[in-house]
Amino acid sequence: MNTQKLPHVVIVGAGFGGLETAQRLRNTPVQITMIDRQNYHLFQPLLYQVAIAGLVPSQIAYPLRTIFRKQKNLTFQMGEVTSIDLDGRYIRSNGSVIAYDYLVLSVGGQTNFFGLNAVEEHGFQLKSIESATGTRNHLLRMFERASREVDPELRKALLTFVVVGGGPTGVETAGALAELITHVMVKDYPQMDLSEVRVLLIEATGSVMAAYPDELRNATMKLLEGKNVEILLNTRLTDYNGRRITLADGGQTPALAPGASVDAHTLIWTAGVRSAEITDRLGVQQAAAGRVRVEPTLQLPQHPEVFIIGDAAYMEDEKGQPLPMLATVAQQQAKTAARNIQQTLRGEKLEPFRYKDPGLLATIGRNAAVARIWGLSFSGFIAWVIWVALHIFRLIGFRNRLVVLINWAWDYFFYDNQIRLITKE
Ligand SMILES: Cc1cc2nc3c(=O)[nH]c(=O)nc-3n(C[C@H](O)[C@H](O)[C@H](O)COP(=O)(O)OP(=O)(O)OC[C@H]3O[C@@H](n4cnc5c(N)ncnc54)[C@H](O)[C@@H]3O)c2cc1C
Repeated sequence: MNTQKLPHVVIVGAGFGGLETAQRLRNTPVQITMIDRQNYHLFQPLLYQVAIAGLVPSQIAYPLRTIFRKQKNLTFQMGEVTSIDLDGRYIRSNGSVIAYDYLVLSVGGQTNFFGLNAVEEHGFQLKSIESATGTRNHLLRMFERASREVDPELRKALLTFVVVGGGPTGVETAGALAELITHVMVKDYPQMDLSEVRVLLIEATGSVMAAYPDELRNATMKLLEGKNVEILLNTRLTDYNGRRITLADGGQTPALAPGASVDAHTLIWTAGVRSAEITDRLGVQQAAAGRVRVEPTLQLPQHPEVFIIGDAAYMEDEKGQPLPMLATVAQQQAKTAARNIQQTLRGEKLEPFRYKDPGLLATIGRNAAVARIWGLSFSGFIAWVIWVALHIFRLIGFRNRLVVLINWAWDYFFYDNQIRLITKE
């Protein structure tokens, strides 16, 4: 095949959207260059499992060169895209200039600290393998330090774990962390009084899991409370110095007066996402969270050769609500973007994107999850089994699926999180 004359499609970002786009263009007469600063695809929904010592990074990440080994029309380059010239139709990556006929930007998001620089400096986030293993090391180190700490106040602060953000990631992290303590740490530290441990979930609005129906929000609250997670609603965090969190008000928590503080050596921030930094350098119109406004066909206004998908793209549903930053949105948009590139090549009319909501699903720990599927809400064991099956199915690679399944089965039957390693960063 003479690839010289084929249209050149550059895909930036090999996350959920980029990967799906590339695979959909496998048999299309184009030459694809896929660029990502990482050499692996990361399954972000299970990052929290790395943080709570349930999985190792290699179980939720997969090398891109292996994924694309058999795709003859694709070349992968590991590199950071530092600028994009929309008029000149080229990008810069690792000092080289790469021209494109079509550009697909699926660069995802980054943690949004809403200008709380102190939280960014001292808190932990779940966005990358490094941040998840860093969180794991820190959590485990807190138990080591607490086990030899004689000052009861300091010990309590070492054993106070604050998760900020009551969305699915915060809820899943808080639930899993509480279980790590009650099922595993209690056996590792028999000499310690683990009733001193606190897991706090702080949420600025009046409810956890805002996108979920009432019955599932209530079920989530009950499940979390059953695991001794303290939920602080209507509570806004204003500062964190690595030792103490400061709250704007006590919200619905009578024990906390306005401006109250809690001593805590751990804060995990899951309260916001914004689009990746490169989107700020495009010089185009951005909406909330820095996402780039796209046409219904996912094209960039005035630049029909550029498609933006996933977390980086801003689009509204029929009710005028922004599409959520979810893997399911990115994957569905990838299918439309790939089809629209094919239709452009054939000179056909492009199709608008319509999100088909596959439902909602989040786990709160062992035997505990909440789900809304086919208009039905349910919680507990059945929802949890669906969650496990779906996440195993969505992982890339048979080996990863098998290893994760064995790992979870082991943890389930033996109440054990095996990856309790404190490693150097
Ligand atoms: C902790 C966590 C839990 C989540 N849980 C769920 C869940 O349960 N269900 C769900 O549907 N969604 C979940 N999400 C959201 C989901 O992961 C994202 O919506 C999805 O990854 C977005 O896909 P994307 O293709 O837009 O970006 P991503 O998958 O984030 O991929 C972006 C890629 O672009 C690369 N990149 C970025 N900038 C550059 C650059 N300048 N140069 C080169 N490469 C670059 C990155 O390295 C990355 O590989 C979760 C996210 C997180 C962080």
